[in-house]
Parts: sequence; structure tokens; C-alpha cells
Amino acid sequence: MTDEPLFNVAHIKLRTAVEGPFERCCIWFQGCILKCPGCINPDLQELRPRHICTLSRLTGIIADARDRFRIEGVTFSGGEPLLQQDLWLLCRNIRTMGLGIIIFTGFLPEKIPRKIRENSDLALAGPYIASRHDDSRFLLGSENKTIIEYSARYHEKLSYFEMASHDIMEEACLGKAGPGEAEIFFNGN
Ligand code: SF4
Repeated sequence: MTDEPLFNVAHIKLRTAVEGPFERCCIWFQGCILKCPGCINPDLQELRPRHICTLSRLTGIIADARDRFRIEGVTFSGGEPLLQQDLWLLCRNIRTMGLGIIIFTGFLPEKIPRKIRENSDLALAGPYIASRHDDSRFLLGSENKTIIEYSARYHEKLSYFEMASHDIMEEACLGKAGPGEAEIFFNGN
């Protein structure tokens, strides 16, 4: 047993160019309570233990990505990152490393906790609404989703989310979800 904060992680990609501006580490958390019809990651909705990682372990993985790949920042996706109750502590550690933080959340902007707002740079907030599906912007899913800046770090890079501004590649990640289990996971769109 550990007294450390724990996180329920579905996938980690140490370096990706399709989860926000610059090259980034992306962490997908397991579990979401919003159940948006048409969710792009339905396999990440179930509230079940996946890969349980301590705060220090996750911090170390991100530090390794920074040292090996010179990533600019970290993206949190899911699933619903804000269900990880100690997420702000991970944000604080990431900030200490000099990295930026982008959070994809299904929650509305006013529901994002103060500690998250104070320790991150950008949130892409709101549930996916299939009837308002939006192909004109990258990674935002539906027209209702809003981009919220908590710092000026990505202010000059908001055009990244405009589909027309760059070619989008889908990336395949090969990994194992559990013992004896093969897994192929795609990110980007
Ligand atoms: S908030 Fe995101 S992960 Fe959760 S159900 Fe909606 S689209 Fe899926």
C-alpha cells in the first residue's frame, strides 16, 4: 500500500504531434461519467481499474519523455481526466518541469476546479454533442466545446485547433492493456 496519490491510466504516449501544439506526452485516463452518445473513446468510459500509477511514477514517466524527446508539454485526455481527484498535483509537478499542460474535459468550464485552473495552461471543455459535430476544428469534436486559456502559453498556437492549418495524421500505438492482451490504440483524427 502507498499513501501516494493514485491515477487510473488507460494509455500513455510519450511523444505525439496530434494531441495539441508541439510534440507532447499524452495521458489517457480511464473512466468517464458523462456517457456522451457518439463518444470517440467509449472503451475509456467504464469506471474500472486499468493501470494504477502513483504520482511519483507518472511524474517520472513524464520527466523521461521530456529528457528523451524534448516534449513541450503534456496533454490529458480520456475518459475524463478531471475524475482523477489529485490531478492538480500532477499538474503542479509537470509545471515544475517547465512543461505546458492541455486538458481535454467533458465538463463545462464553470465546473473545472480552481486548483486545475491555477495549475494548467489550456482546457478544451464541454461534452461531445453528436448533433453539433464539428469537422472544421481539430480535436474539438462538437461546436459547443470551448477553448479556455489559463495562461498565455498557447495563445499564439490556438490556430492548431483549426483543421485547415495543418495536415493531420493518425498515429497507431502498439502496447499491452494487460497480461496476454494485445492492444492497438489510435490517436488523432
Ligand atoms: S466526456 Fe469525452 S470521454 Fe466522456 S463520454 Fe463524453 S466524449 Fe466520451
